[in-house]
Amino acid sequence: MRKILIVGAGQSGLQLALGLQSQGYEVTLMSNRTADEIRSGRVMSTQCMFDTALQHERDLGINFWESQAPQIKGLGVSVAAPDGSRAVDWVGALDGYAQSVDQRVKMAGWMETFAQRGGQLVIHGAAVSDLDYFSRTYDLVLVSAGKGELVSMFGRDAARSPYSEPQRALAVAYVHGLGPRPEHPDFDAVRCNLVPGVGELFVMPTLTTSGRADILFWEGVPGGPLDVFQGVKDPSEHLALTLELMERFTPWEYARATKVELTDAGGTLAGRYAPTVRNPIGRLPGGGLVLGVADVVVANDPITGQGSNSASKCAAAYLASIVEHGDRAFDEAWMRATFDRYWDTAQHVTKWTNAMLGVPPEHVLNLIGAAGQLRPVADRFANGFNDPADFENFFYDPEKTSAYLASVAGA
Ligand SMILES: Cc1cc2nc3c(=O)[nH]c(=O)nc-3n(C[C@H](O)[C@H](O)[C@H](O)COP(=O)(O)OP(=O)(O)OC[C@H]3O[C@@H](n4cnc5c(N)ncnc54)[C@H](O)[C@@H]3O)c2cc1C
Repeated sequence: MRKILIVGAGQSGLQLALGLQSQGYEVTLMSNRTADEIRSGRVMSTQCMFDTALQHERDLGINFWESQAPQIKGLGVSVAAPDGSRAVDWVGALDGYAQSVDQRVKMAGWMETFAQRGGQLVIHGAAVSDLDYFSRTYDLVLVSAGKGELVSMFGRDAARSPYSEPQRALAVAYVHGLGPRPEHPDFDAVRCNLVPGVGELFVMPTLTTSGRADILFWEGVPGGPLDVFQGVKDPSEHLALTLELMERFTPWEYARATKVELTDAGGTLAGRYAPTVRNPIGRLPGGGLVLGVADVVVANDPITGQGSNSASKCAAAYLASIVEHGDRAFDEAWMRATFDRYWDTAQHVTKWTNAMLGVPPEHVLNLIGAAGQLRPVADRFANGFNDPADFENFFYDPEKTSAYLASVAGA
């Protein structure tokens, strides 16, 4: 059978490894950490995944935590007014529920499953020189190492990367003890709280190493009042800062957070990165070629919660392309076509995410405001997180937005 090397055991690498393994491929997976190191390490994401991406996991029968993870049935938007009240406040219903399973739980579990099923797991932080060697012994080398150093093999695609600097400073805290939103006590939703000019606070339930928890995730405009987490090493200090900023900018979320405590010492994360699209094919010093997967080639800011969703969609698209290609060589033309198939969906995610990072134009403010009065608009906006291609129909172009709002209002 064909031999495939996958470098990087995250959402895309593991999903692809398990998928190929079930189709009889001889898969080697290289990870720079063991399952136990991942499980006992630091949180990596908020990893909220919507129905289409979750379905790819169900299709492979690897949705092991589906019955334990909270079902996220809606997505809400609140906009802070200068006096601390909410100028906008609505929640849309998702057609299919979303879920967040802490990547420490999922990646560690999937890695063990891959090994138990006979997959070859190599614990090693791969360098370009390793790939040079392996590209000669494997039929295909896939690099799914996220935003790590191996991305340097893949040139930045400037035409598809409008930003060269990070657009948000990120700060995540996993907590136990968060109360419900009093207006919807039994309805789990992702809550997007927008603080104009300052940043965003996302709140969502998750399944972590100690069971159900909630995530408090600040995205701060660089240099602004939320950009204060860099250099904070103590997790309790990180949580205290998170709460202080919630009290100041989103008091309605702070009101339910007064009794929270961190899930564990690894329950915080801070960082930033520039959203970047790269050339999908890496050329090794010895002439071999490797294909980049998911974040390696398309890394968007997490403001729209899409990276894990995209990683799942990328893994599904690549799996189909590999299987369909049969015994033919995985040459440059195939690599390009395989990436282009993924870019068909990824381009919508990149366009929408980059738009959300900018200052919203008036028609977008109108749309978000109108969703508070028109339920179908709230629902459609929420379901756009599952299928961002739909934003083409009503989000970017002021004329399409007004036509859409008029059609809903008239219905
Ligand atoms: C704060 C934050 C919040 C987020 N929230 C969401 C969200 O709500 N929803 C969503 O969909 N996405 C979210 N994302 C994005 C999402 O987490 C990523 O896009 C997704 O995990 C990318 O998957 P991947 O497989 O490309 O890479 P990763 O999941 O990053 O996996 C890469 C793996 O490769 C390993 N690795 C790196 N270098 C090497 C090497 N040289 N050799 C071997 N192994 C290596 C890494 O350790 C890692 O295990 C968020 C991201 C951040 C930072």
